[in-house]
Amino acid sequence: MKTLLQMTPVRECAATACSFNTKGCHAPAITVASTGDAASCATFVESSLQGGIAEVTGTVGACARSECTYNTNLACTAESITVGPGATASDCLTYQPA
Ligand code: SF4
Repeated sequence: MKTLLQMTPVRECAATACSFNTKGCHAPAITVASTGDAASCATFVESSLQGGIAEVTGTVGACARSECTYNTNLACTAESITVGPGATASDCLTYQPA
């Protein structure tokens, strides 16, 4: 069994408009959704609140992109992922369709 600390980290996130992004992602577990062709970060939110936990590096909680080579049972097995603007304001840029 894995703990949150062992889950796939969000190594870098360039979606600076997101409330969870303060020099990187601090959402305990993001969800990656499948919006059209994009592997969009569904946790992206613009708010006046500062989101997440400052001491925590963001990780991938769930991922709906089952066709990605890194996806096993809707969870991410990549060593780390990068998030940034793509087809949406915040996409998983590590997404690799099988
Ligand atoms: S690398 Fe693939 S499995 Fe991991 S979060 Fe991105 S799209 Fe999902």
